[in-house]
Amino acid sequence: MKNGISGRTRVCGIFGCPIGHSFSPAMHNAAFTALSLDFVYVPFLVESENLRAAVEAVKALGLAGVNVTIPHKQAVMPLLDEVTESAALIGAVNTIVNQKGYLLGDNTDGNGFLRALEEETRLTPTGKTVFILGAGGAARAVAIQLALAGVKKVYLSNRSRERAEQLAALITKKTKAVAEVVSWPDGKEEDWRLTGALRSCDLVVQTTPIGMYPDNSLTLQLPEGIFRPGLVACDLVYNPVETLFLKSARQAGATPMNGLGMLLYQGALSFEQWTGVPAPVEAMKKALIASVYKLTG
Ligand code: NAP
Repeated sequence: MKNGISGRTRVCGIFGCPIGHSFSPAMHNAAFTALSLDFVYVPFLVESENLRAAVEAVKALGLAGVNVTIPHKQAVMPLLDEVTESAALIGAVNTIVNQKGYLLGDNTDGNGFLRALEEETRLTPTGKTVFILGAGGAARAVAIQLALAGVKKVYLSNRSRERAEQLAALITKKTKAVAEVVSWPDGKEEDWRLTGALRSCDLVVQTTPIGMYPDNSLTLQLPEGIFRPGLVACDLVYNPVETLFLKSARQAGATPMNGLGMLLYQGALSFEQWTGVPAPVEAMKKALIASVYKLTG
């Protein structure tokens, strides 16, 4: 926003419940200020029974677009005019773009992860072998987008094996990648398939909340010798800045990446769809870091 709200100000926002702790308003409003764009980004507390009315309001009020977060990412899909191929495969929408009254749903989480990976580690997915720990919503976005971006092999490991099996079947059916499920590392006994898969991968992505603030002392019980130079190790957790998973990776010479970049670039990609201009990434990152880490000091 340049000089406050005017008659021409375009409105963006986020629909969720709860919404009070979202970092998106700080990040997007900093971006609008940095570029002197006459836009504003507002948090909207939307209860499930009001989701349809809220989506209709995007059209009725002429909002430029909104983000969608818990618990509406799946429920919003049938309320839109169209969803992108990747959002349909991921099974969740986090961004709605109002194209003159036609609502397009997209999912920028997976592409946000890919952009962070490229910017921070220079790893290109084509032909690579990846290992995903977890099979929840974030894992789906990351695994499917990596598969669409050309990875050759996706190993999946989840505490509830059935969820990993479902994701593996989807990836193998709908993308050119081959997905395989291996056991969850419970630290009890050595599993040669799990160890072999972890040793063969170029990229390992930790997508569970294990090790997240305030449980910083928790970590996964991975087999010995997994982390090594040449491996890229990502943890989608961004608070703390370095989880024990990432600390072990760094100490063994692997390239670590935390979840802040994914959070930043999923926002940057939404911003670019609403405004049509490149996102001011540095300004967004500064605002994000200030709001994420002020919560815990
Ligand atoms: P979700 O859909 O609820 O999935 C949670 C996943 O973690 C499932 O695979 C679950 O396994 C597993 N899990 C949870 N607690 C576990 C435990 N104690 N032991 C083993 N596995 C456990 O959640 P989500 O949306 O995917 O989010 C997961 C994490 O990613 C959170 O920490 C979130 O903050 C982070 N995230 C980061 C970004 C980013 O931009 N950096 C974006 C989205 C999410 P089961 O299937 O067995 O329950």
